[in-house]
Amino acid sequence: MLNLSVLLEDGARNNPERECLIFGDLRLNYALVDMIANQVANLLVARGVAPGDKVALASPNTPYFPFVYFGALKAGAVVVPLNVLLTPREIAYHLEDSGAKALFAFTGTPDLPLGERARTAFEQVDSCEVYIDLPAEPGAKESAVAGAETLWAALDGQPGTFESVRTEADDTAVIIYTSGTTGTPKGAELSHNNLLYNAVCSSELFGSAERDVFLAVLPLFHIFGQTTQLNTALYRHAAIVLMPRFDGDEALALMEKEGVTTFGGVPTMYWGLLGAKGEHDLKKIASTLHTAVSGGAALPAELARSVKERLGVEILEGYGLSETSPVVSFNNPKVKAKTGSIGRPIWGVEMRLVDPEFNEVEGEGPGEVAVRGHCVMKGYYNRPDATAQVLQDGWFRTGDIARRDEEGFYFIIDRSKDMIIRGGYNVYPRELEEVLLTHPAVSLVAVVGVRHESHGEEIKAYVVREEGAELGEEELVAWAKERLAGYKYPRLVEFRDTLPMTATGKILKRDLR
Ligand code: AMP
Repeated sequence: MLNLSVLLEDGARNNPERECLIFGDLRLNYALVDMIANQVANLLVARGVAPGDKVALASPNTPYFPFVYFGALKAGAVVVPLNVLLTPREIAYHLEDSGAKALFAFTGTPDLPLGERARTAFEQVDSCEVYIDLPAEPGAKESAVAGAETLWAALDGQPGTFESVRTEADDTAVIIYTSGTTGTPKGAELSHNNLLYNAVCSSELFGSAERDVFLAVLPLFHIFGQTTQLNTALYRHAAIVLMPRFDGDEALALMEKEGVTTFGGVPTMYWGLLGAKGEHDLKKIASTLHTAVSGGAALPAELARSVKERLGVEILEGYGLSETSPVVSFNNPKVKAKTGSIGRPIWGVEMRLVDPEFNEVEGEGPGEVAVRGHCVMKGYYNRPDATAQVLQDGWFRTGDIARRDEEGFYFIIDRSKDMIIRGGYNVYPRELEEVLLTHPAVSLVAVVGVRHESHGEEIKAYVVREEGAELGEEELVAWAKERLAGYKYPRLVEFRDTLPMTATGKILKRDLR
């Protein structure tokens, strides 16, 4: 039996009194979290959810996420985590596409009225039979969502013990929706085996302390947060400080108060930590923080340097995708790490570079990264054609272009679809972004290709200035020209106050284009 719920059950069995979840004033130990997950499993069985059925979960980072996630897994169900920013139409699409039988949704707050959106979607999808409201007020039995029942009312009388359903290693545990390289979201089917291996391998790569405390601010509905902040922390019997929304000052305050040892973030979060204005005891934070992980997007060297200076910790960059559970490669500090690199494949995983015809590219490349091993998804749910396009002979094509050095370290150049072709020259936006970010007046930047009559595409930079800084187009273009080959500098510059971001904090280049 290889049910992923073993991650929580092992902590409850061996360290029942140890703190598991910290959320505002709430502090819940392993025994209690496991007990509530058992009640959720009993509830699901009572409502007719059978092994293999899909259970959708729409919750920001609150204790509800692990309650429902592990409750559903224990019952042998498949969890379908949903992004909390989805519209009713999008939620309905996910419920229908996955065939979800139940939906658990956080009520939300006035600025995040998730419950209303989820309920509207639920009412449009006949195949989804069970709706459970996760109320903002812990323990509340009356729901603020019309016609809904709260989790606490539904759990009344449910026993706190449950014998987890035995699952096979290859059974699907979670379906993660991702847009991948095409527009429509597809569900990447991840098995119990995929997710367990990834949690254990991540744990191997992180530093450790007597009592580890993870700051879970990456959304748990996204695979990066789910594996590296939730599952990895549970595997270690660590405490998890749940933070529903990123804010640099709040994150630093929590790090200081709770003695956080492990932080995972996308690069924009690290910028947010550096930009925090409040008073924080950085020495104290640095004294406990032993691991800072970055992934999801390229980590600019400039940013890594500044974080090292302020927080005394080397950011370790890793690489992965929803389709790979997610970690594929990592800079292993115990062996060797290289700035600017995504490291080498993790234990049990192979990487290679391929050309568009899928032939292996020898030497340094560049080529498209292909991945094989325990991290690779089973396929896209109910989409054999889309699966066949990316999975061949066990190798998964990532759509990311990379180089490789003689020691086997990989360097992502860009996503193949982000590459700009200007007058026949390939331009990788990431290289330009790195250069523009070294300008002291630049706080955030995204380079995209826009249509151009004679060049095919033209290079355009969207730039957010540092607060109070003055910077004009001419100066910035001159800065880039001095540092880059003639065909690479941006011909168009647009200054903005902010850039569009995904819920995980990645810049939405699609929208900028
Ligand atoms: P997602 O499926 O949302 O996790 O997005 C996966 C994509 O994020 C990958 O295909 C890469 O394009 C990008 N990505 C992840 N990690 C890195 C990294 N360390 N450097 C550059 N791009 C990354």
